[in-house]
Amino acid sequence: MPEVLFSIDQSKSFFDQEVLPHNRWHPDVPPVASVKPGAEFRLECREWFDGTIHNDDSADDLRDVDLTLAHPLSGPIAVEGAQPGDLLVVDILDLGPVPQETGPVAGQGWGYTGIFAKINGGGFLTDHFPDAYKACWDFHGQVCTSRHLPGVRFTGITHPGLIGVAPSHEMLGEWNRREAELIATDPDRVPPLALPPEPHNAVLGDLDGDDLDRAAAEAARTQPPRENGGNQDIKNLSRGSRVFMPVYVEGGKLSIGDLHFSQGDGEITFCGAIEMGGFIDVHVDLIKDGMQAYGVTTNPMFFPGNVEPRYSEFLSFVGISVDEDGGQHYLDSQIAYRQACLNAIAYLETFGYSGEQAYLLLGAAPIEGRFSGVVDIPNSCATLYLPTAIFDFDVRPSGAGPERADRGSCAMTS
Ligand code: ZN
Repeated sequence: MPEVLFSIDQSKSFFDQEVLPHNRWHPDVPPVASVKPGAEFRLECREWFDGTIHNDDSADDLRDVDLTLAHPLSGPIAVEGAQPGDLLVVDILDLGPVPQETGPVAGQGWGYTGIFAKINGGGFLTDHFPDAYKACWDFHGQVCTSRHLPGVRFTGITHPGLIGVAPSHEMLGEWNRREAELIATDPDRVPPLALPPEPHNAVLGDLDGDDLDRAAAEAARTQPPRENGGNQDIKNLSRGSRVFMPVYVEGGKLSIGDLHFSQGDGEITFCGAIEMGGFIDVHVDLIKDGMQAYGVTTNPMFFPGNVEPRYSEFLSFVGISVDEDGGQHYLDSQIAYRQACLNAIAYLETFGYSGEQAYLLLGAAPIEGRFSGVVDIPNSCATLYLPTAIFDFDVRPSGAGPERADRGSCAMTS
């Protein structure tokens, strides 16, 4: 058993933990521990909304959730000898829900997938689904089921949604400059174009007083992926994965959080994974001066995990860059993928699922999303691969027509 370098008492808010997490990126967040290259250790993690989402049949909690809470990260862990320009090598040895606990906090035997309301963050299809919805999932070992999505059962692809290192002061300044410029192009947009620094609910480890105030005013929000990794939501960072992270500050300062029991490519509902608290075991090492040696200037690279569900048949949906109103777009893969998702949802509706249920399922199940063509003007082509074996009925098209049934309902707002 690796040593636990960051522990979480799941019965308490992250604000009340003995060692505080951090929910913003800032180079001054003090390391909670320092390890040598070659170390193996465990980090315990809090789910991304600090236990404010409940295992019930109402989506009011998701509608009202406070985005400034996100994401409580476990760490940072300093790696001795790590210097800017090195590559930090992180092996994901194992991860999972909170061991040996059942309870009211996501990760204690269950998890949730959410669709966010358009006025509170939205999601990939927010113009089609502007309200909040939720599905709660029960864990059965590696398998999950949901009373909000009857007829579905699948093996999760467990991974950290968020893994990253500290930015340098210079890099943080650059993030704030470029994101502020984007926001300024349409400052009143709903949902916003980006999230500026927000001191409310900012926790930066044990920084306090003036140090906390100063850092919180400029610390970066954790929602987007950036050059330091961050909230990449790559489902293939599953067990067995090896991630090569660029180092920007002394010690590297590795942090991990936002564990997911499963997720489809794209995490399309925004809270589209199956969210949970839990644990992650990692091994760290260094490639000295690896950034220059391997031409890595920004962003991590990785070996995908070697532990994942094995589905072999996929019903695949195609989308092109022509929008819902017939508008022609030039090689826009976002629009193409949106059409692939909408086509998949329309198909699943013929089996009796609501559009919201289908949207939730595509966020959470291990679907594959691909850029199939990006050069054939004027249309990009994107594809969504839906594993057929996750349904307990035959979801494949045939002359007999779709097996329509009462598929219940997801959790909705009151
Ligand atoms: Zn997440």
